[in-house]
Amino acid sequence: MNLLEMKNIKKEFNGQSVLKDISLQVKEGEIVSIIGPSGSGKSTLLRCATMLTDIDSGEISYMGKRSVWMENGKTVVPSGKQLKEIRSCFGLVFQNFNLFPHYSVIKNITDAPIHVQKRKKEEVYREARELLAKMGLSDKENAYPCQLSGGQCQRVAIARALALNPKILFFDEPTSALDPELTGEVLRVIRSLADLHITMVIVTHEMNFAKDISDRVIFMDQGVIAVEGTPQQVFSSENARMREFLGKFH
Ligand code: ADP
Ligand code: MG
Repeated sequence: MNLLEMKNIKKEFNGQSVLKDISLQVKEGEIVSIIGPSGSGKSTLLRCATMLTDIDSGEISYMGKRSVWMENGKTVVPSGKQLKEIRSCFGLVFQNFNLFPHYSVIKNITDAPIHVQKRKKEEVYREARELLAKMGLSDKENAYPCQLSGGQCQRVAIARALALNPKILFFDEPTSALDPELTGEVLRVIRSLADLHITMVIVTHEMNFAKDISDRVIFMDQGVIAVEGTPQQVFSSENARMREFLGKFH
């Protein structure tokens, strides 16, 4: 089954077409990397998928259920319980972590499961501590974001996303705000999630990482999917824009 299906997604900002009829599917357990030049629409695509940005036209489904669609030329999303159900399907990890600065690490992780998902406090705390252990951050439970390195913040952000038990995890350039040595520790954590077969869509500029970890790679250019396939297919593609883009990494 497709966990996520995006059909014919279009999005404009101020008359500029940023997503030009994009369709994509993500199956359960799949790891999809999205690469492409700055401004090609990668973040907008993730923001549309995670309902942070409205689409102008198209349709989005999670687990076979319509989540965003068009009626009479307007986008429609379900409301109430159904919307909550859809939102619980996915988690999003941003480039700049977006942790709550005035919350401790453990509160950053447990707040939404307790207050949004209304889960039992003891169980949420137990799981949060397990996640922190997995992230190598057991000793940081009471620290505040400002006391952590960027790499540690990003690992907290990943733990926070995982605490909501999403079916699919989106990453928007999770390491691009980090120094090279901190990048490695975050990429290792993401790899460990791949070993657990967590479905992931990762926007990244780490080409070797994308090549290694992905089942499928998507190269976006000027609002379209210009090349798509296995890492082997995409990284050996003769597409001129793709060659030019890859050339910047050598
Ligand atoms: P990428 O993530 O690939 O770098 P983005 O999706 O961030 O690309 O941006 C694609 C294009 O859309 C860029 O030209 C950007 O300036 C524009 N854009 C993105 N978000 C907005 C917004 N909220 N308002 C206006 N323009 C935007
Ligand atoms: Mg971006």
